[in-house]
Amino acid sequence: MDFELNDLQKQVQQTFKDFVDRKVKPLAAEIDEKKEFPRDLFNQVGELGFYGMRYPESAGGNGLDITSYCLAVMELARGSLSLAASCTMQSLMGTYFLYRFGDDEIKNKYFAEALKGNKIGGICMTEPNAGSDLLGVKSIAKVTKDGFILNGQKTWITSAPVADFFTVLAKTDNHEQLSIFFVPANLKGVMVGKTIEKLGLCGSLTSEVGFVDVHLPKNYLLGQIGGGTKCLMEILAEIRIMTAALAIGVATAAYEDAVEYAKTREQFGKAIGTFQAMRTKFADMAVQLETAKHYVFYAAWLSEKNMPRQKESMLAKLYASECANSICDQATRVFASYGFAMEYPVQRYFRDARFTLIGGGTSEILKNNIGKMILG
Ligand SMILES: Cc1cc2nc3c(=O)[nH]c(=O)nc-3n(C[C@H](O)[C@H](O)[C@H](O)COP(=O)(O)OP(=O)(O)OC[C@H]3O[C@@H](n4cnc5c(N)ncnc54)[C@H](O)[C@@H]3O)c2cc1C
Repeated sequence: MDFELNDLQKQVQQTFKDFVDRKVKPLAAEIDEKKEFPRDLFNQVGELGFYGMRYPESAGGNGLDITSYCLAVMELARGSLSLAASCTMQSLMGTYFLYRFGDDEIKNKYFAEALKGNKIGGICMTEPNAGSDLLGVKSIAKVTKDGFILNGQKTWITSAPVADFFTVLAKTDNHEQLSIFFVPANLKGVMVGKTIEKLGLCGSLTSEVGFVDVHLPKNYLLGQIGGGTKCLMEILAEIRIMTAALAIGVATAAYEDAVEYAKTREQFGKAIGTFQAMRTKFADMAVQLETAKHYVFYAAWLSEKNMPRQKESMLAKLYASECANSICDQATRVFASYGFAMEYPVQRYFRDARFTLIGGGTSEILKNNIGKMILG
């Protein structure tokens, strides 16, 4: 594996770094406080080509590699995890199944517009009683002669309050396995509930979505009846690598702020960064951040080469998210009382980072699966 970024990857990293420093960082606190979807920034990220970054040029994307995508994700998450979570939803799970299975109507009217950021997509998998256990979903699509009638209740749906369309996981009444449906948000019977108040990621809006007798034409089935689980597996590794990249981004923000603070805050007549207990803390944080980052690049590289990566993507996500939470915790300690003050961003990193422990599979589920792959 080549550890040096190529020129194009460096260019992508620099473009998103500049954008984040100039446009995102100055607004990140406001996004969090107002708990509003940052539509303007979301559109600007679209103008940078982020939503089409991982899709081939033939589909209207940029056809960049997964390492480039991860670099952009890390930068966005360094600026605002709320913004980054909304943008990654749009660029991956929110649009992937439209790209894979959508017909001309879906591709032209929705997918192409979503790549520009003009239409917003969400994915509805989780239900009140089916979180980690996705096969336990109860949403059901009755097969009719014209198509399907969908009923069900979903929850924790990222971008739902602002979404134009959803990709929905449900079972049909004639099959045990999951199927995937395309559902425009303005169809009769689609009901978006009130926004869920959250600990972090406050500018990435999340809510329940109900489906009551929603009539879907045949072409709104994405893929085969019962083919949903297999299709989800196609992007599961990438979802995990992307979530790991989100974790690296927010951890980098916490680490950078803490370094700056340790150099400038004085106690006992010296910068606090000169005390040995502080230096040890920074050494520990640096080890976690660098090893997590390199492992994420390794998993991205495996993915790029289409090599086996299920275990590696889980290791990357598990390690990066646990490290991010540890780094954000340590960073707030460097700030001490100011790490407890809402005035400083470090508390936001600490709150936002919790999300990375959940999205893309909880640590417990990942440990179960990794253990199973090792031990059989
Ligand atoms: C901010 C945010 C945004 C989200 N966005 C979306 C979205 O856009 N679309 C969507 O569909 N979902 C979304 N989710 C939901 C997310 O995918 C689920 O929360 C996640 O799958 C976990 O499900 P759960 O919260 O119901 O927890 P549960 O599955 O109920 O788990 C509870 C606890 O039990 C543990 N546990 C469960 N099963 C096992 C097991 N077999 N072995 C060991 N431990 C176990 C878990 O690790 C956890 O600690 C989002 C969640 C958050 C927080």
